[in-house]
Amino acid sequence: MKSVDFKEWLSGMDRLSRGQREAVIAEMAGQVELELGVKVIEASVGDTPSCPHCQSQKLHRWGHDSGLQRYRCCGCARTFNALTDTPLARLHYREKWIKYQQAMLDGLSIRDAAKACGIAKNTSLQWRHRFLRTAAAQKPAKMTGIVEADETFFLESKKGQRNIDRKARKRGGTASKRGLSAEQIPVLVVRDRHGETADFILGKVDAEQVKQVLKPLLNQDTLLCTDGALVYKAVAKQEHITHRPVNLAAGKRVIGGVYHVQNVNAYHSRLKKWMGKFNGVATHYLANYLGWHRMKDRFGENTSPADWLANAINRTGQFQQRCAT
Ligand SMILES: [Zn+2]
Repeated sequence: MKSVDFKEWLSGMDRLSRGQREAVIAEMAGQVELELGVKVIEASVGDTPSCPHCQSQKLHRWGHDSGLQRYRCCGCARTFNALTDTPLARLHYREKWIKYQQAMLDGLSIRDAAKACGIAKNTSLQWRHRFLRTAAAQKPAKMTGIVEADETFFLESKKGQRNIDRKARKRGGTASKRGLSAEQIPVLVVRDRHGETADFILGKVDAEQVKQVLKPLLNQDTLLCTDGALVYKAVAKQEHITHRPVNLAAGKRVIGGVYHVQNVNAYHSRLKKWMGKFNGVATHYLANYLGWHRMKDRFGENTSPADWLANAINRTGQFQQRCAT
């Protein structure tokens, strides 16, 4: 807009009603967030984008696709943009993504996030889980030094699923049987003293499944701390893992000042407290929520909505913090 036109446009502002003024502000905020979002999305392909279909780097710029650069691959002749093959491909209302990420950072429920962004509840549900798909898959491949492992349990929930085969429990309610039962989903959390955390939903806590989780994470330089449960002893012996079990039942909490499971247990309680806000997470989505919390716990205070958006479409498998302002 020419500056003279802009002046005239501005001078009309005082004739706007309060409602119109609010609409202008919302529109402007949407524009700014859309620009930020597009910047983050375009940056995700890096300086040398490659074709998501055949990985060729011989590309032509090929117009635009709803605000995003479109490329055409010389190798396979297919076109793509920065969102192709990411969990966010073909999602609508891009101007609201940054705001939605903020709602997620604020830990809002599906319903409240929908309200904050002016989208339908079903859209909010769909976005939440698309945005979390990458985080759910991002786990450290290796642990170092002293590694604590312990299991925790989440109540099975078929929330949102049709054909529930039992009487609905009150939201976020308690198991009908005390202690372990089929209604409790075991999650094994493994955490080293550098704060790297990995979690695994198990069918049950037996040697076979625990071994599958621990074996790839540990090596000859790590030292495993667990409680006195026999399953860990058995796996450690079988796999020649250096192991310091802490016999909590006998009142021992810390051995030699360093061997304990207090970090992993503190993680459990942060996770439970945070999860409690969502009134019972559907078991179907548990992995996404675990991933969300894992990332939040690892990078929490220093992340922005733009970081989370960048992470939702990053193809590297590692959370990358960036400043996208
Ligand atoms: Zn290609």
